[in-house]
Amino acid sequence: MADDHAEDKEEEMEPEIEPEVEPEIAEEIIKGWVPKTRIGRLVKEGKIKSIDEIIEKNIEIKEPEIVDALLGELKEDILEINMVQRMSDSGRRTRFAVTALVGTGNGYIGIGRAHAKEVGSAIRKGVGRAKLNIMHIERGCGSWQCGCGRGHSVPFSVTGKSGSAEITIMPAPRGLGIVANDTAKRVLVLAGIKDAWTFTSGETRTKVNMSYATFNALKQIVGTRGVI
Ligand SMILES: [Zn+2]
Repeated sequence: MADDHAEDKEEEMEPEIEPEVEPEIAEEIIKGWVPKTRIGRLVKEGKIKSIDEIIEKNIEIKEPEIVDALLGELKEDILEINMVQRMSDSGRRTRFAVTALVGTGNGYIGIGRAHAKEVGSAIRKGVGRAKLNIMHIERGCGSWQCGCGRGHSVPFSVTGKSGSAEITIMPAPRGLGIVANDTAKRVLVLAGIKDAWTFTSGETRTKVNMSYATFNALKQIVGTRGVI
């Protein structure tokens, strides 16, 4: 449902190793945006030019526009839309739950979940929350079979959990691709991991838990710049 994999083909045509995002301010987003936070105002005024300045200082991002302005157009992937129905005294109450991913395909990835009465607003809220959760992972080549030293995989094995779902993401040689279930693969693709082995256990078919477990595993390679 609402899966948009139109980007997949584009992805294949891109160079194998993409450059880091240029810290360019997206002019159009800036124009119509009235920031509500101090960080938002600094971004709009051009005093903060890179999302990394915010992420590295552990400053909470409270406006999705900050991410739009600093990273430009993000790829979005709606992982799941669930209809939740409840009976109450006044009748049936329907709500939608959405799990959304945003990413640049080269190191920035966010995940968010939201509920709303209408599908459209649930998606917008989910995407907005995913932006607020954006993180910058340091990719690497932790594969002894490869040793190319480029950022096509994970620098070392990382494990993450959510609910009963657990995943270990392991470095793989260039050209292998991502060996993972669909949900984990979608997270890794948006994060910009090109090659990886994975090992999963628990309730891996629950998309919410599987995607959060993958995101949690990637949290271990946030800010490892220079360490590897
Ligand atoms: Zn390599």
